Amino acid sequence: MPELPEVETIVRGLRKTILNRTIDSVYINSPKITKINIKNWTELCRGQKLVSVRRRGKNILIELSDGYTLWVHLKMTGHFYFVTQKEPLDKHDLLIFHFKNCSHSLHFNDYRRFGKVRFLKTDQIAYQRGLAALGPEPLAISLSHFIDLFKKSRRMIKPALLDQTFLAGLGNIYADEALYQIRIHPRRLTNRLSEKKLTELHRSIKKLLLKAIEKMGTSVDSFSGVDGKPGQFQKYLQVYGRQGKPCHRCRSSIKREKIGSRSAHYCPRCQRIR
Ligand SMILES: [Zn+2]
Repeated sequence: MPELPEVETIVRGLRKTILNRTIDSVYINSPKITKINIKNWTELCRGQKLVSVRRRGKNILIELSDGYTLWVHLKMTGHFYFVTQKEPLDKHDLLIFHFKNCSHSLHFNDYRRFGKVRFLKTDQIAYQRGLAALGPEPLAISLSHFIDLFKKSRRMIKPALLDQTFLAGLGNIYADEALYQIRIHPRRLTNRLSEKKLTELHRSIKKLLLKAIEKMGTSVDSFSGVDGKPGQFQKYLQVYGRQGKPCHRCRSSIKREKIGSRSAHYCPRCQRIR
């Protein structure tokens, strides 16, 4: 599933391609997206300018000029592609946006169809449960707030990092990588970590996410940017997906284990539980 760096890559790609364009028409090929939105939303989109594109956690918010916003969650396999109008349609293209005076269109493609596209009044966005409940942004949270968050909670760190209401944007890949970098066992309890360790974690998460954004995200599955190009950060992964392979630091075999409801990758020697 796309995590913060992948969603940020998409958001930056959308800014480059569709920001300030005016929607000419929207073609829809998804009973699900039709069902969860007001009847005439594609009609309402016509003639509206795209005035901002931003990210909140793993969510994309595309604001239209008339007081409406498109709220998109890519879930497992949602993609945006900005392609020429000559590009043949794919059966998994669920939405196509055509723009005025533009030779390209924006396709929302999603072969597993878990992705979500909601058309809402902009002033209602803040009240949507999936957005209102989100925790702080890892790239914006201050060190003192970060330490406070962990000290006030008593739970295993790996599931905590995946919980979007705790911290918004991390998923399995970056949570495993961050814990490996600073040698924290995924089962350690959040409130038992020292301030020193939490300071390291705060810095390590930021550094990791920024580097992954710079490399246009991780493509271990189908992820690609708006231009269709895959990300490059998979080349830098130290522990995620490396089960059975030797740790780069100590040569121990990387373990993959179910913690909470998800699999965690870690080095049993570098990341000890005391
Ligand atoms: Zn190791």
